[in-house]
Amino acid sequence: MEGFGVGTWDLDLSTRELEWSDATRNLFGVDREQPISYELFLSLLESGERERIDRAITKVAETGGSLDVSFRLRGRHKSGQWIRARGGLVKDEAGVPCHVSGIALDIDEEKQLEEALRTRESHLRSILDTVPDAMIVINGYGIIQFFSTAAERLFGYTEREAIGKNVSEMMPMPDQARHDDYLARYRSTGERHIIGIGRIVTGKRRDGTTFPMHLTIGEMQSGGEPYFTGFVRDLTEHQQTQARLQELQSELVHISRLSAMGEMASALAHELNQPLAAISNYMKGSRRLLAGSTDPNAAKIENAMDRAAEQALRAGQIIRRLRDFVSRGESEKRVESLSKLIEEAGALGLAGAREQNIQLRFHLNPEFDLVLADRVQIQQVLVNLFRNALEAMAQSPRRELIASNAKVEDDMIEIEVSDTGSGFHDDVKANLFQTFFTTKETGMGVGLSISRSIIEAHGGRMWAESNAAGGATFRFTLPAASNES
Ligand code: ADP
Repeated sequence: MEGFGVGTWDLDLSTRELEWSDATRNLFGVDREQPISYELFLSLLESGERERIDRAITKVAETGGSLDVSFRLRGRHKSGQWIRARGGLVKDEAGVPCHVSGIALDIDEEKQLEEALRTRESHLRSILDTVPDAMIVINGYGIIQFFSTAAERLFGYTEREAIGKNVSEMMPMPDQARHDDYLARYRSTGERHIIGIGRIVTGKRRDGTTFPMHLTIGEMQSGGEPYFTGFVRDLTEHQQTQARLQELQSELVHISRLSAMGEMASALAHELNQPLAAISNYMKGSRRLLAGSTDPNAAKIENAMDRAAEQALRAGQIIRRLRDFVSRGESEKRVESLSKLIEEAGALGLAGAREQNIQLRFHLNPEFDLVLADRVQIQQVLVNLFRNALEAMAQSPRRELIASNAKVEDDMIEIEVSDTGSGFHDDVKANLFQTFFTTKETGMGVGLSISRSIIEAHGGRMWAESNAAGGATFRFTLPAASNES
């Protein structure tokens, strides 16, 4: 025994003398010259361990049984050394307990292995806790052995609840009823159906709701028993994205139709410009001819012709604005007059407002009139706000549209457009600025989202509020331009 590094020891219970063999001395790092005592032995242990070991030895001395303790040394020599001591009670001829003796072994290697295993286990654990895919390990009978943190989140069971359950509880019918048979068949035939290949199946949460998931299964053998590891990815979001993509695609088709219409409007404007200019010229010519007439109605006719010429000019202007409006082009920021922008946008966006009995109130403070902006783009924002407001007020008893400006911090000017329309619910409010969000049957839902991008490209902000009249108030900010520039 000595030759193979197994030391022996003996404790005399009556004298409390302790004896060690050479191998034991070696293990503890104690010279041959140094006297051995029970106190010396205890002093070589880590201080927290002394009591435990002493109690274990005393228990064997008093009640018999066997001793089996592992401990670690401390001190100058052999510090950190792991030792395992085994032993038992020895009685004299009369049956009186007189010695506790046994062996001592170096168990450093086992302890290191154990430590390495524990480290790896905790690494594995931390990886499993962080992988986004849920992971479930089951044995050959479907009983859950391991349930990752992501699985807890996905299925709504805690690890403790899940372990020991049959995994089929996390499937809806009919899979739930069939799963045990699938496993039994695999056990007896080894025929693979799903192992190694992923597939899309349905999962069932603790609350009974189901969700689409992608499942990949791996197999392993441990101690002659099969175990299966399932990796689960929640596809709910993926499917929502797909649906959204499809929606976007159909909207895109819609938009391209709209932009084709924009180009048509531009061409139409071009075509209409000439006849309108001709009308205006004919009117002026006729008026000149009429100047020499003695007809008693001449004055009235002249007046009517002037009006007609004015209207033709106005029609031309509207069409020109429409062309500017639909023609895309580089964003060009200049110092612009807000009142002019609002007036012009009103001419486009508020056409028909009077017929609808809508009262327009523009409270524009001339002190904060100049902004740095792309005229066409800001008009687009305003036109959209105006059109939305008109539509929102179509059924309202009170129909008022207010536009106003004010100076706010950071040299910005805030523009407010308020209506007394239907207003919006909170759930609508959260989505207003999302592309393709609309509550209208024929709405596109792009107006506000484009508007916000335009305002943000100008360095401003845009948001919406409900107002006291129950209608909607939209606000946006633009950088102020100083009067001198
Ligand atoms: P669209 O007008 O095509 O629906 P928008 O992006 O311009 O697209 O508007 C999105 C949604 O915001 C509208 O469908 C409507 O529900 C809501 N909304 C916009 N303006 C108003 C308003 N003034 N009053 C009430 N709701 C509004």
